Amino acid sequence: MGSADCLFCKILAGDIPADIVYESETAIAFRDINPQAPTHVLIIPRRHIATINALDADDAHLVGDLFLAAKHIAREEGVAERGYRVAMNCNAAAGQTVFHLHLHLLGGRDLSWPPG
Ligand code: AMP
Ligand code: ZN
Repeated sequence: MGSADCLFCKILAGDIPADIVYESETAIAFRDINPQAPTHVLIIPRRHIATINALDADDAHLVGDLFLAAKHIAREEGVAERGYRVAMNCNAAAGQTVFHLHLHLLGGRDLSWPPG
């Protein structure tokens, strides 16, 4: 079930092209169009969920799948051993611009902490 005006639902439907690097029953992942690191992949659930705030207890497995996908992709991208970051922004003050849940996977360079 998608949201008609959601960019990532359009990518899921194949209406907007994306460089897809991973697909499972519950999630897909594709390269960020404006990468902030040599590896910058977005991992999204197939089901439209706007933000972390909209999650409920039944979504626990789905969220776990996003992290397991991150682990898999990090290994495929060759960043697992050196290190990488996963981050999920929630709402405007945290920088969320696309309101379909997504985990950023960033790697391939040293990442500073704390993030801005
Ligand atoms: P956020 O700011 O956490 O909501 O992240 C949204 C991300 O989506 C940003 O890093 C954008 O660069 C990325 N993005 C926006 N449009 C596209 C697109 N068509 N394909 C891939 N990534 C996109
Ligand atoms: Zn969506």
